[in-house]
Amino acid sequence: MQPNQPNRTPANSAPPFSPDSEHPTEEQRKQDFLVKVASPRYDRGGVSGLKRYAEGKVDASSAHLYSTSEARKLIELGIEDRMKVKISDHYNALVTGDSDMPPSAPLRNLVTARGEEVKDLSGEVDPSNQLSYSPAAGILHKYEMALLYVVKTCSAHCRYCYRLDLFTGKSGKPLAQLAAVRDYIDAHNEAAAANHGFHPETGRPTLREVLLSGGDPMVLSNTKLAAWLIELAEAGISTIRIGTKELAFFPHRFDDDFFGMLDAFNEAYPNVRLVFAVHFTHPDEFLIRDDEGAYVTAENDHRFMWLAPVENAVEQLTRRRHFISLENQTPIIRDVNNDAHVLKILQQELYAHGIGNHYYFQCRQIEGHKAFAVPVEECWQLFTDSQRHLSGVEAHARFVMSTEQGKVEVCGVSGEPDDGYVVFKWHRNPGAAAQRGQIAIARRNPQALWINDYQDRVFQDPEGLIGSTE
Ligand code: SF4
Repeated sequence: MQPNQPNRTPANSAPPFSPDSEHPTEEQRKQDFLVKVASPRYDRGGVSGLKRYAEGKVDASSAHLYSTSEARKLIELGIEDRMKVKISDHYNALVTGDSDMPPSAPLRNLVTARGEEVKDLSGEVDPSNQLSYSPAAGILHKYEMALLYVVKTCSAHCRYCYRLDLFTGKSGKPLAQLAAVRDYIDAHNEAAAANHGFHPETGRPTLREVLLSGGDPMVLSNTKLAAWLIELAEAGISTIRIGTKELAFFPHRFDDDFFGMLDAFNEAYPNVRLVFAVHFTHPDEFLIRDDEGAYVTAENDHRFMWLAPVENAVEQLTRRRHFISLENQTPIIRDVNNDAHVLKILQQELYAHGIGNHYYFQCRQIEGHKAFAVPVEECWQLFTDSQRHLSGVEAHARFVMSTEQGKVEVCGVSGEPDDGYVVFKWHRNPGAAAQRGQIAIARRNPQALWINDYQDRVFQDPEGLIGSTE
């Protein structure tokens, strides 16, 4: 601790009266936890960048992804100026059929670059203008919670990623730093505490929840993750979300050392809840397929069989439900998961394994989004069809757009394409959440890819939400 730094008291641990074992100081609590953390290196294998494919320096399995000539052509097209190519061995095997299962076309489309991506680069460098909600380096504080960029890569890269500006560096977003984040949370919460729990300038409530994001925080070592967890817990944060696609890209990351770290954290901070905001896009990422590509069911059971490393990881996480929960969210992407039956299996299977279905997203207006986006109304129809015959608890997910003005649910589409209506509802608003719960109605636009494509057809929008949304 710095000499003049106050000895902070988190809401969820003993008060730091004196440096003895009954009332340890913050520094002692941190050290007591960190000494229990084993932090091995993880070998994800795989390939990063097209150069190795172009030079023929990849193994036979990886060579199925791009021939040398394809890779050279993509490099010439400047594909990696938009988004760098990256894949883990685990995901490569699912894509190419090197996993004793046939190749998966949807997963291939998720992770391999196509020339189409750079044909039309219209879109935002910083989707939803996130930098305008960044009060300090690497922090977004838009809603009641805050998001931290803690790493600039993932084990593999989804071509539709809306964080691509972080990866390419085009928007200049920096990573969050531990001390600066702590200072920000302390200052925000002190100001809120002095004003009945709401920040006097922004109207945002006391910060209780933080999302570790990036990139994928699970790419960090256990020690680095532990350092973030403990700093946030000491700041009084009671829910820490970890946004990750690692269960799909490299499920072996969820090993005994990782769970040992989580258990030690729970022992030190029993009142802090961890939420894994996982990202499964397609059931091919976790279900076993037969030679024809059909999902395999267990003998005498109607349930599908999961890939062992994913099932084990999920089982270990759900076993810790007293402090861990899991929620899935994914965009609906052309040629990846724009299929009602696929989305239905996704929701059914995740729910059956203890993973909540949270959000299905409209593809954001990133640079090159037209190669991935499915029109809003078509997505709504796919999503709605996918929930037919699901039970109420399986069908908790909402189909939303994450806009600059907040999270907007597409609640309903009715009537014919040329004279029907679309109903939007605002679920979350920046700052004081004044428009939460408001609805807007627009005339249909079957070609719309984003909410601003409805700006010339607003029917009812008392709050001006569609009109003012970028
Ligand atoms: S896992 Fe998430 S952050 Fe990582 S590349 Fe995919 S969409 Fe982007």
